[in-house]
Amino acid sequence: MLIGAHVSPAGGLYKAIERGVELGAESIQIFNQSPRMWRPTSYGEEDLARFREAREGSPIRGVLIHAVYLLNCASEDPDIRAKTLTSLTHSLRVGDAIGATGVVLHPGSAKTGHVGEAIARAGAVMAEALAESERCALHLEDTAGAGGTLGRSFEELAALIDAAGGGERLGMCLDSCHLLASGYDVRTLEGLDETLAACDRTVGLDRLHSIHLNDSLTPLGSNRDRHAAPGAGEIGPDGLAVFLSEPRFRDLPVVLETGTADGAVAAADITLARNLRERGELMRADATTG
Ligand SMILES: [Zn+2]
Ligand SMILES: [Zn+2]
Repeated sequence: MLIGAHVSPAGGLYKAIERGVELGAESIQIFNQSPRMWRPTSYGEEDLARFREAREGSPIRGVLIHAVYLLNCASEDPDIRAKTLTSLTHSLRVGDAIGATGVVLHPGSAKTGHVGEAIARAGAVMAEALAESERCALHLEDTAGAGGTLGRSFEELAALIDAAGGGERLGMCLDSCHLLASGYDVRTLEGLDETLAACDRTVGLDRLHSIHLNDSLTPLGSNRDRHAAPGAGEIGPDGLAVFLSEPRFRDLPVVLETGTADGAVAAADITLARNLRERGELMRADATTG
């Protein structure tokens, strides 16, 4: 399991690798452009080469690019749709250039409109962005289910992947906070098993390529997206121990997005996640022998 953190690429893409290394991470996630602006950041060849070099000499093995939150692939507004397509395509091309594991995307929002039609619109934008880029994977993230957000259930994620053409580059990122908030109880061995069985029946676990590890400030099924630092929310240390020790997550990048250092991830949060994972493994071993 490549436990890591969301970090800033301020000062150059390669700085994100340095920040990850300082935290003791084995994976990183970055925004490839300012999260509050539509304009894509253009990276020079030197920037990209420096990133690849820094990564090669580091323990960072997983690299995720998070598409910015302004994007709405399901928008009915032609202007928003065009800007979304430009930004998503750019993210995938940066992913191609730096050899990223994938671009993580919140699939979009139906607002108050018809969900089926919104899924079709979102799928069309994703398919176009994939066609305009080479090989970087696109990981659709499950959402907490607030308002009209798409991706609140495995059924919706499966429908989105279908609508986007169902190709091999389409994968999934599961967020522990969003799973709990959308009603999947991932805090217990039984609950997590049921959740993954449901995921496998609908989307297929072979599409699961990355994990966001966040605790949740709001309860099971609350449909609200409020991250807590690991162990400080409704999932809690015991729940996170179960989640992190899941054998089917073993080879994936697991990225912390929220931590104890003014909301940013600190080295202590990564250490805590590793310790909780070990604790969960011991608990699972006890459960099978005892
Ligand atoms: Zn996200
Ligand atoms: Zn979230």
